Amino acid sequence: ATITQGATGYLTIDLAALGRNYSKLASMLAPVRAGAVVKADAYGLGAERVAQTLYDQGCRHFFVAQFVEAVRLRPALAKAAQIFVLNGLQPGSELACAESGIVPVLNSLAQWRQWSETARRLKRSLPAVLQFDTGMSRLGFPEEERAELAAAIRDGANVEILFIMSHLACADDLESSQNGEQIAEMARIADEFPGFDISFANSGGVFLGDAYHGVLARPGIALYGGAPNAGGKNPMEPVLRLDVAVVQTRTVPSGTKIGYGGAYVTRSQTRLATIAAGYADGLPRSLGDRGAVYHKGTRLPIVGRVSMDSATVDITALPEGALSLGSLVEVLGPNQTLEDVAGDAGTISYEILTGLGDRYDRHYC
Ligand code: PLP
Repeated sequence: ATITQGATGYLTIDLAALGRNYSKLASMLAPVRAGAVVKADAYGLGAERVAQTLYDQGCRHFFVAQFVEAVRLRPALAKAAQIFVLNGLQPGSELACAESGIVPVLNSLAQWRQWSETARRLKRSLPAVLQFDTGMSRLGFPEEERAELAAAIRDGANVEILFIMSHLACADDLESSQNGEQIAEMARIADEFPGFDISFANSGGVFLGDAYHGVLARPGIALYGGAPNAGGKNPMEPVLRLDVAVVQTRTVPSGTKIGYGGAYVTRSQTRLATIAAGYADGLPRSLGDRGAVYHKGTRLPIVGRVSMDSATVDITALPEGALSLGSLVEVLGPNQTLEDVAGDAGTISYEILTGLGDRYDRHYC
């Protein structure tokens, strides 16, 4: 494949690898079902293509964060796919949500009341998922709302509860004591709300063991090739390759300041290449201190601060003429993983993925 004229780089998304990652998780989980978290445009990879690929692998439960994401995704998926909105019910979206068949995750009594009132007005039962806070203090019914919720459920409020769920705050850390605390809290909740299926594990949770699986897992990052747990070998297959175009090369003498703030000064004569990707394209500004790109296995350090649309790399290690206008350098690929880039930038793989932006020439294969 060739780069489209004017593209800043070339982002290859390997849907077959995505499918294999899903199958791997699904077989680890079986008979527990594997859903998929496809929020934020499937972590930047393209929600429609990703969700369709996973649907073909047997996935039927898709989780987004916001109603607007669900509305965009709905037409791309067959009816048998259910879409759940993790952030819950936004005031004003109730009727649209009910009519579209999109399922809200209710996180509070206020949202429960909104949804049951909508069901009453429509004179029919409406589906929902209930999320409980088991220790993350982000989303979900807090402990003090549980008694009133239980009473409301007993009264039968026209809300059909499909399953109950909670989210782990530290699942990437296999040693964290918070994992055990959260599963214990979930067990108490299951006693208070008996008879409902449970969804618990994210990617990291899948690797914590059966106790964390419930009946429906919600992996995200592992599907996209990110490491589900910190440290050790990443068991997932990479899904992305990113190559970025060179837009200019030059040779500068020792003592030359490079980039904004003149933050980097060359210590000897240096050959430089400016590449057409910056922090608007998923290369965090903080990479300027530690990051690199690769050319045929040779590491080319990023020098100076990353700009919005470009970054400068030291190509002195390459033979003269190896890179010129339009040449490609590897940002993500066999030489550099998502975790490598995230580590160099002092962030997490999720932030790299969701920051990739829409300026690359994307190829799905
Ligand atoms: N479940 C919920 C509620 C989430 O917010 C997320 C993502 O942050 C996930 C599951 C998927 O998490 P991960 O990408 O770590 O698998």
